[in-house]
Amino acid sequence: MRLDDFGQSDNIRDRRGEGGARMGGGGAGLLFLLVRLVASRFGIGGVVVLGLGFFALSAIGINPLSMGTSAPQASRSIDRSYDQLVGAVLLSTEQTFSEVFREEGLGDYPEPTLNLFSGGVNTRGCGFASSAVGPFYCPADREVYLDTSFFDELSRRFGAPGDFAQAYVIAHEVGHHIQTVTGISQQVRQLQARAGSEAESNAYLVRLELMADCLAGVWAGRTEIPLDPGDIEEALRAASAIGDDTLQRKAQGRVVPDSFTHGTSEQRQRWFTIGYQAKDISACDTMSAERL
Ligand SMILES: [Zn+2]
Repeated sequence: MRLDDFGQSDNIRDRRGEGGARMGGGGAGLLFLLVRLVASRFGIGGVVVLGLGFFALSAIGINPLSMGTSAPQASRSIDRSYDQLVGAVLLSTEQTFSEVFREEGLGDYPEPTLNLFSGGVNTRGCGFASSAVGPFYCPADREVYLDTSFFDELSRRFGAPGDFAQAYVIAHEVGHHIQTVTGISQQVRQLQARAGSEAESNAYLVRLELMADCLAGVWAGRTEIPLDPGDIEEALRAASAIGDDTLQRKAQGRVVPDSFTHGTSEQRQRWFTIGYQAKDISACDTMSAERL
């Protein structure tokens, strides 16, 4: 992406350095509990995350102090190297989805606030969350939460480097915002509540997540940020790296399809591509799609 002449969103709230919820050695057990709490809410769709539940749990199992990131505790000074990217990508999603909402007769697009945090954050609507859960969207307060140290992790641990991999992560969370303001998330939560089994409930969640990937693709197809060769491949590599099957294979050596909550690597890539090519949110109807 070439960000030099692109503007910045006004909707970034910088909450780094608030010092809240930073945990030292003694906090590991508490941290584990909190992550489990958040992870257990996946099933009811309380917090919509990027798909790292398994990974966060396993990472803590291996190293309780890692918080699921590779950032050393001592170097927790505020990292501003991603600020321009976050501001530009958020602005671009505002432009794109304002346009899309007008075209679709959905009225004014309510721009979400994006909170930058470091280590952990007390959200307005979803309680406390540790960075270990990865970037997430809180439907209750309609805000995006991002610790940019995840981008380093995405690059080093998940093997998905590059600015457009990072842009995809932001656009995916914005996708959850669109699902929330259009009422889709709530419908899916109702379907989940009526589901006869956990596997069925998870299957609805997978459709919701793949829709967010597709919406991220729509943004990628329409953004006015000039792209570089290889940018789309970076996003696809990220989508693949955080597929349920890939994460589970990495974390536990085997794959349990009934427990999927975000879709396979192949599905995540596929729906990003569908949105990217169609540039149209009506292509993103994963709820009624026969093939995911
Ligand atoms: Zn998600």
